[in-house]
This record gives sequence, structure tokens and C-alpha cells, in this order.
Amino acid sequence: MPVLTPERSCSKQNRPLNPNSYPCLQVGGDTMIKKINHIAMAVKDLDQAAKFYQNTLGLPLSGIEVVAEQKTKVGFLKIGGSNIELVQPAEPGSPLDKFLETRGPGIHHICLEVDDLEAEIKSLLDKGAVMIDQKPRLGAHHSKVAFIHPKSSNGILIELVELPKEQ
Ligand code: ZN
Repeated sequence: MPVLTPERSCSKQNRPLNPNSYPCLQVGGDTMIKKINHIAMAVKDLDQAAKFYQNTLGLPLSGIEVVAEQKTKVGFLKIGGSNIELVQPAEPGSPLDKFLETRGPGIHHICLEVDDLEAEIKSLLDKGAVMIDQKPRLGAHHSKVAFIHPKSSNGILIELVELPKEQ
């Protein structure tokens, strides 16, 4: 088993760390991202796919809704403070058709929750991220969403969501 030198180990807890010696500590900083809101699975048939999550894993399905703007039908399975989103094409010509054709059913995107979507988009653009949406668009349940291009995020489609403020 290789012995980690201090330069390479981040597990030394009890002495002050010099971040310059620990590259893995030099992360992020100013983030407005609150949590993983959901992980989305592309499915061909939401009702059919939901059976596994409901009957086998015992997760309650709720919030089934057609998102007209994205031509998709979505349903959410709540797990703690996050969700699994099942998403199926709602009509021919849905952007999801192509994904299912080329990749088949599977993880489609990860959704991160933010407080202020417009500010987050601006911040990402300033940092050189490639955005699919440069402005928020309407998501499920009156939320505002925007997608980051997988080019910027190592091949994973990332959705940002701002939930509607409680009235
Ligand atoms: Zn989503």
C-alpha cells in the first residue's frame, strides 16, 4: 500500500494545513448552490418506470406534470430533501427523444438548487461556463430553470433550479 506524503494526503486532521501543499483543499469558495434538488432519469414510460421505485424501493411518486415548454412529462420520487425525477417525452419532437434514441434510458441530468437563478447564470457566464440557457425558463411546479452545457461539466447535463418563493 503506498504511503501518502503530506503533499498528497488530505486526511491529516490535527495540524494546521497550508492550502498550497494540499491542492485538493483549494476548491470553490463563493457558491450560491444550496443542494442537489434532484437527479433525473430519462424513461420511455413514466408510469411503467415508476413501478420499480414505488413498489420495490417504496418511494412515493408525486408531482406528475407535463412541462409544455420542454415537451416532457415528469414525476418526482421524494428521498429526504431531494428527489429522483422520472422524465419522459410528452409529445413527438421532445428533446428527450434523441437522448433516449442514442443513449437509452438512464441518468439524464443532475439538478442543483440555487436562491437566485439569474445571478447564478451571470456568475457562471462570467466564469466562462457554456450555458444552454442564458435566461431562466419555466420548469416544473412554477420553478425557474436553466441548463449548463455538458461541455462545461465533463459530460453531465446540469440543471439549475430556483424554486418559487413561498407566498
Ligand atoms: Zn430536472
